[in-house]
Amino acid sequence: MNLEKFGQQIEEVRQRGQFLENRTGESPQLQENLLLQALEELRTALEELRVAEEELREQNEKLTIANQQVALERRRYQELFDFAPDGYLVTNTDGKILEANRAATQLLNISKSFLIDKPLINFIPEQERRAFRTQLLQLSDIERMQEWEIRLQPRKGRHTFDASLSVTTVRDHKGKLLGWRWLVRDITSRKQVEEKLRSIQLQNLELQEVTRIKTQMMSVVSHELRTPLNSILGFSQLLLHRYHNLFVPELKDMIERIIRSGKHLLALIENMLDFSRLERNRLELNLQELNLVDLVTATIEELRCLGEQKNLTLVLHANIENPRIVNDSARLRQVLVNLLSNAIKFTDTGGVFVEVQQLNQDQVVLMVKDTGIGIPESELAHICQEFWQVDRSTVRKHSGIGLGLAIADKLVRLMNGTITVESNLGEGSTFRVELPRQI
Ligand code: ADP
Repeated sequence: MNLEKFGQQIEEVRQRGQFLENRTGESPQLQENLLLQALEELRTALEELRVAEEELREQNEKLTIANQQVALERRRYQELFDFAPDGYLVTNTDGKILEANRAATQLLNISKSFLIDKPLINFIPEQERRAFRTQLLQLSDIERMQEWEIRLQPRKGRHTFDASLSVTTVRDHKGKLLGWRWLVRDITSRKQVEEKLRSIQLQNLELQEVTRIKTQMMSVVSHELRTPLNSILGFSQLLLHRYHNLFVPELKDMIERIIRSGKHLLALIENMLDFSRLERNRLELNLQELNLVDLVTATIEELRCLGEQKNLTLVLHANIENPRIVNDSARLRQVLVNLLSNAIKFTDTGGVFVEVQQLNQDQVVLMVKDTGIGIPESELAHICQEFWQVDRSTVRKHSGIGLGLAIADKLVRLMNGTITVESNLGEGSTFRVELPRQI
């Protein structure tokens, strides 16, 4: 029951009492009847009043509980507002600060009592105030603005910092603009990370450019070296074959040395050219069907004398039903030569074992194991990088320029295969090449 209805009921009882009082001058019989009737009506009215009173009390209790809940919610909101990790401010339409939480006071390095009533623009560096004012004017037309990046100038003791402001319009229940609610976030570390990222991207671009120039230079230099070297080799071979009768053994030996060194140099130049072609995606595979076991056997035979010079055993173990695959035989041979010559180069005792297996219907495996010096674990991830050598000292025992594995790796990738290595220092290494049967 509401108060209006309760008042109505009291008015009705009052009017009824007035009516009875007005008729008290009439006959005694009527008076008695009226009195009885009045008593009855009074009892009913009292009863209704009692019910009404009960209802009112109940409503009062509900109101008290609701009030307590509202107070609780308000406290909760206040606590959330106060202890939020981000700074919150409420300003009026002139930008005067009306409310501020703890984080905001910490960010602006000022106590709450000093912050309240201050214009927010006081915390914007001079040179950015004009832009801030313009933006503030535009704010009344928009309901919300996210991530407005600006510099904030706290009170003495803290440096200017990068902040992100998110602003929401505050209106009264009629929609009239009252001010704005500001979320203030310190984005110094985000800016620093972004700056770092930008500089890394820049470095990356520079690095790419350096790599491009390096590859181009390698290609040009190799080309320029190859032409005169081929003529040195050609003429030396011609000398040796056509005029061998004219030379005393000592001279013959010298010419043979020129040829050997020339061939060695040519191989290095060819490697550099291959690498630069692979880097620039200029190398294409010449695919054909081939017998993998035959190719491996022939390559091992070519290198056998190298192994024998060091008393190493070279063993092939083929366990493959169908050895026919489709690949580029010259390039596959090149991969194998690079792995085998490394295995021989870095092994002093024991041997080199080559295995050919069928991994599944569509893939074959080629393994080159040695019992050599092994590779430290920390180096394993890098050894396929160009010019990477475990021993980078100037007094290296082993020859080479660090391109063999880089070329093998790039070639195997071109063949849609993978190359992996396992090694134990002092015990040996195993290079495993997985290839598709058909590229
Ligand atoms: P290079 O042999 O010309 O130095 P590679 O690219 O072929 O260059 O090999 C890179 C490096 O990886 C070698 O210098 C060597 O340190 C290491 N390495 C490669 N193969 C083996 C191996 N079988 N045993 C030990 N170390 C190896």
